[in-house]
Amino acid sequence: MSALLRVEGLVVEFRVGGWRSPPLRAVDDVSFEIGPGETVGLVGESGSGKSTIGRAVLGLQRAAAGRIIFDGDDITDRTASQRRELAKAISAVFQDPYSSLNPAISVGRSILEPLLVQRKLDDAAGQLKAGELLEAVRLPKDVSKRLPHSFSGGQRQRIAIARSLSTEPRLLVCDEAVSALDVITRAQVLNLLEDLQSRTNVALLFIAHDIPIVGHHARRIVVLYRGRIMEQGLTEDVINRPLHPYTRALLAAVPLLDPEQQSARRESRAASVSVSTANAAPPPAEGCVFAPRCPYAADVCQTKRPLDLSVSGRTVQCHLFDPDSGHPQADAELSALDRAASS
Ligand code: SF4
Repeated sequence: MSALLRVEGLVVEFRVGGWRSPPLRAVDDVSFEIGPGETVGLVGESGSGKSTIGRAVLGLQRAAAGRIIFDGDDITDRTASQRRELAKAISAVFQDPYSSLNPAISVGRSILEPLLVQRKLDDAAGQLKAGELLEAVRLPKDVSKRLPHSFSGGQRQRIAIARSLSTEPRLLVCDEAVSALDVITRAQVLNLLEDLQSRTNVALLFIAHDIPIVGHHARRIVVLYRGRIMEQGLTEDVINRPLHPYTRALLAAVPLLDPEQQSARRESRAASVSVSTANAAPPPAEGCVFAPRCPYAADVCQTKRPLDLSVSGRTVQCHLFDPDSGHPQADAELSALDRAASS
């Protein structure tokens, strides 16, 4: 399957303290791809760079280096007017539906606008299509005259989805699209997205901080920490057999239903990874960004950036899985992997 979206060595930087200060690197050499109709999840804590990557794909954030290839075309440095053309093919749903819905105009008009402007439908065809889109997101057509404020959060997110699908995009960037919703509404919206995806074959770049949600819906997962990819692979591998210490920490932070299991896990977690970033020391300039929080950090982790390693069918950036890194536990970790693979 050839990729619909390919992100290659993406770097995004921000100026934070005047022109003399070195730029802050929010996304550092990130590469991944998405096939047509595929869902790929970007997961990580706040500050991991996941939303910045989504914004770069949408053309809302300039890339300092690297390339973004969509359907074979390099779209990294497209101008605003070229991007307007692309907006038909790459759409987005954000956490706050108000960001895409004008509070002063009816939801029917909000959905109709891209149909008239971008798909060039006439008014009658546009009205018909807008009604179909409202039905597709399981809202009755007769709500179209109402203003956004008269809907619940879940309903507004459905309207935002209907609007984002109005241009028949091939890629939908869902940036924390369900994070603000309660559990039941979140499940409904996620099921709706899956249903729409199976009907339209739209690919999803699913960005969230919640690894179980991403794991449930994405075919592949990219785990980010401080702008770098820690681990990337098929969801079943990453979720069921996480390798990178950060992925393990994210999964260990997911509450378990059994109180005894939860208590045992809490104790083992307290002895291992510092989940909070608040007290963590800044990462070493040349080493692994996760070193200040990692229970396996060794001298090499402070001085040498880990390579992207191909291990057990996925990519991992950690000295523990590099036999040549000089990490004192690398041999033991790799032997354990070999034993697991042969059992
Ligand atoms: Fe931990 Fe070192 Fe691996 Fe970084 S490279 S995750 S500090 S063991």
